[in-house]
Amino acid sequence: MLKEIQIREAIQNLQASQVPFREDLNLASLSSFKIGGISPLVVEPGEDEQIYSCLSILQKLDLPYKILGGGSNLLISDHPDDFVVFRLSGSYKTYEMKEPGVFRIGAATNTTPTFRQISQKGYKGVEFLSTIPGWTGGAVMQNAGCYGGELLDFTSKIEFIRNGEIHSKKPSEIEYGYRFTEFLKNKDSIILRLEMKLDEGVLDEIEESLKDKRNKRNSSQPENKKSAGSMFKNPRLKDEQGNPIKAWQLIDRVGLRGRIQGGAQISPEHCNFIVNLGTATAMDVHYLASLVQEKVHKETGITLNREVEYFGSIP
Ligand SMILES: Cc1cc2nc3c(=O)[nH]c(=O)nc-3n(C[C@H](O)[C@H](O)[C@H](O)COP(=O)(O)OP(=O)(O)OC[C@H]3O[C@@H](n4cnc5c(N)ncnc54)[C@H](O)[C@@H]3O)c2cc1C
Repeated sequence: MLKEIQIREAIQNLQASQVPFREDLNLASLSSFKIGGISPLVVEPGEDEQIYSCLSILQKLDLPYKILGGGSNLLISDHPDDFVVFRLSGSYKTYEMKEPGVFRIGAATNTTPTFRQISQKGYKGVEFLSTIPGWTGGAVMQNAGCYGGELLDFTSKIEFIRNGEIHSKKPSEIEYGYRFTEFLKNKDSIILRLEMKLDEGVLDEIEESLKDKRNKRNSSQPENKKSAGSMFKNPRLKDEQGNPIKAWQLIDRVGLRGRIQGGAQISPEHCNFIVNLGTATAMDVHYLASLVQEKVHKETGITLNREVEYFGSIP
């Protein structure tokens, strides 16, 4: 648990540097699972200079921090009181078209409306991103994707802070793959924004593609449920017929579809989702996730790796 005196000192420094912050914030409201305890301090820098101020204050006071984006790929601890939450705001919530087809997109923009609007301006290729929840910075972190598309395939530049300096790199200059980037592995960077160069398309075809992806999404996922999407990565293995093995098939095969623990359930509709029925704690979800991993491994020999990240200590 963070010491009260450290938090008070941090707050004085944040006020002096005019960095926005909130105290004693319930993190459940900031996560798609609607699970999470009270954070003593959430800092919300809105510009590069404010990020630098925050980093120097936290470093000076020896306060650990974790970065929260849209909270749609995280299971937040029931007691997130041993770190400061770092959440971008202000200028990072905007995007602009610098020149025709060249977009500069802040890391705290909401993925769904941003990529729907960009598509509806007549630029093609990124319609799939309009169905992914969360923020653009979080999507960069794990190279979010669906329906055959991945964010970094459409990205020309990523701007981030590492070791106190702003870097600008092309995707070819970083390590990345399926739901993976070096940012996620090393946790040493703050994604600020990205740039995309997109080709013009035919508006009717783009609208059709947006609709098609939205329909696919609605038919394949539990509707309006509190979750963090797929709990496990697909294992990248093939069955005897050469078809890819999906995580949900393994969970179904070991009989865990619909299993309930406390306020959490392995979704009966899409069993790679764990859903919050209303009163779930992080521990309930953790119990089910561990049960899946143990049972699948015992009965099939396959190891399922989590896609959803734990934010803070669980258990
Ligand atoms: C219903 C549902 C469906 C989903 N479907 C898909 C899908 O089809 N494909 C897919 O890929 N994902 C999917 N997801 C998962 C999730 O939406 C994506 O992974 C999303 O891109 C995460 O973004 P976020 O802003 O919510 O990140 P968060 O969950 O807030 O954070 C994820 C990670 O990124 C880090 N992070 C966030 N922002 C920054 C930053 N600016 N700088 C540095 N680190 C940062 C966090 O510390 C954490 O490590 C789904 C989730 C839900 C709830």
